[in-house]
Amino acid sequence: MQEYSIYSPNFNRKKRSINSIKIITIHYTGMQSERESIIRLCNPKSKVSSHFLINQNGKVYRLVQDNQIAWHAGKSCWGNYKNLNKNSIGIELVNKGHQFGYTHFRKKQLLSLIKICKILIKRYKIKKKNIVGHSDIAPLRKIDPGEKFPWKYLAKKKIGIWHDCKPNFLRKFRKSKIFKKHDEVKFFKNLNNIGYCFSFKKKFFLTKTVKAFQRHYRKELINGLLDKECLIIAQNLTNKL
Ligand SMILES: [Zn+2]
Repeated sequence: MQEYSIYSPNFNRKKRSINSIKIITIHYTGMQSERESIIRLCNPKSKVSSHFLINQNGKVYRLVQDNQIAWHAGKSCWGNYKNLNKNSIGIELVNKGHQFGYTHFRKKQLLSLIKICKILIKRYKIKKKNIVGHSDIAPLRKIDPGEKFPWKYLAKKKIGIWHDCKPNFLRKFRKSKIFKKHDEVKFFKNLNNIGYCFSFKKKFFLTKTVKAFQRHYRKELINGLLDKECLIIAQNLTNKL
């Protein structure tokens, strides 16, 4: 696969062992243009970077080598992993994002992403459940790559996990009421199994985490409210792990 190298200085000086690579984190750039994104990801003052950047035509830029710790995840958590820069490969997709005009991801861009993911999965033996979005690992701060990111399509290509409930079946349970405490506890237990880090500290945490889950698995309605459809999806995903 052809990569165009652009050097970003934004990584830890100390190299990592490639055995520590366990997760792929997908982002969108959330900036006005590709050019601006490249400048930011390579500017030492911005202190952000990623291993790859893919533009809308599917052109792949390599910014940081895999054995270096790039700065893309920030404060984050997934399963037993904390602050995921050290354990993950970051892939940025050029997209203006929610702030500047969120657009669908183009086929060419996704095809390049799929190619890279397949190579990484093989090379580092990355588990399906460890292919995540930035919002999954930092639900309180981040909403990228957002609800237009086609997780179901990627899962068909064996990248990431997806449920096997029929859309028409699920649809009936959208906005259906839940048994408050009982179902909440069960839901978050399932979320923990999937990898989401969550503890019942504040109401605010709950809403944001439900939203992150919905952005990934139930994009038709992202309201932060737990309903029966979300419960069924989370249970189904857990059963498949
Ligand atoms: Zn991000």
